[in-house]
Amino acid sequence: MNDKKIEIKGLSLEELRVLFLEIDEQKFRADQVYNWMYNNLVFDPAEMLNLSKSLREKLDARFSFTSLTKVDEQYSSSTDTKKFLFKTFDNRKIESVLIPDKERNTLCISTQVGCPLDCKFCATGLMGYKRNLTPGEIVDQYLLVAKEVGKDTITNIVYMGMGEPLLNFKGTVRSLEIFTSEMNKAVSKHRITVSTAGIPPKIRELADTNLRVKLALSLHSCFEDIRSKIMPINEKYSLADNLDAIKYYLAKTKSRITFEYTMLDGINDRDEDLKGLVRLCSSMPSKINIIPFNSIKHMDPDGFSGQLESTPHERIREFADKLRSKNITVMLRDTQGDDIAAACGQLAVKAL
Ligand code: SF4
Repeated sequence: MNDKKIEIKGLSLEELRVLFLEIDEQKFRADQVYNWMYNNLVFDPAEMLNLSKSLREKLDARFSFTSLTKVDEQYSSSTDTKKFLFKTFDNRKIESVLIPDKERNTLCISTQVGCPLDCKFCATGLMGYKRNLTPGEIVDQYLLVAKEVGKDTITNIVYMGMGEPLLNFKGTVRSLEIFTSEMNKAVSKHRITVSTAGIPPKIRELADTNLRVKLALSLHSCFEDIRSKIMPINEKYSLADNLDAIKYYLAKTKSRITFEYTMLDGINDRDEDLKGLVRLCSSMPSKINIIPFNSIKHMDPDGFSGQLESTPHERIREFADKLRSKNITVMLRDTQGDDIAAACGQLAVKAL
């Protein structure tokens, strides 16, 4: 990205209209450009054929249409999962994953280069943190994958790749505004989920926007002490604080919360964990995503993270069945893409 140019993929339609007035172009021209980018996936002004030559030249001179460059792609033939590696303008690397599941194709996107939160079961957390992604870099993950696989192929977007979305609040909210803009027929807001490790003030702030997207909390334990052990952020923002904020979010959005629950052998898969989950899920409209843990031993062979093991499959199934018997909605996620390190918690690139 050229510093002097404005990153066009990070602009809302309103902002683009204002900038067009500044360069003596009418508002509807901004709508045409928006339509080319988001509904036709055309990012080269030279191909925007209903624009005059002089406008195309102005666009070229003033805006950058390239926020990311795809540098690699891996495909898991066993699950059809695809992992995309992108390079940023300052040579950082980030990943996105396209996960097929029955009638859905979910694109999991990143919001930060690395992550500062250091969750013990997560490869990204072990990499450290470099910077927030710009709104354009968040949006471009969707645009570049959509261009490659076909726009209608992507049915859902989940903010669950590298980074904590609510610690890049501006980038997350702006990208959500772009995805849910009336001009952008990308993915319905009912099919967009922001997944957070739990930042209560930002959960409330998100509730106060009109975005109304779905929210998921990385729960992983109903007990404060265990949660703090595997998610250090719990020391600062306790589960109790998060549940208060989630109740506020539910009251505002009327959509049920998803609890993400990675199954860790001997840590959060005991009978008392089951009881805690039943109590919690019975207290609010919710569902649980049970996720088998994908080992990250290679990243921390001698440390705590390296010692973590997944709960055995039979116990995971039994755990899920017992929850269902208490009328809890449970999604049991496969280890989608673990053969290409694209499964949940495995996103990590060699050099940030
Ligand atoms: S699980 Fe999410 S919030 Fe936790 S370290 Fe990994 S990327 Fe960051």
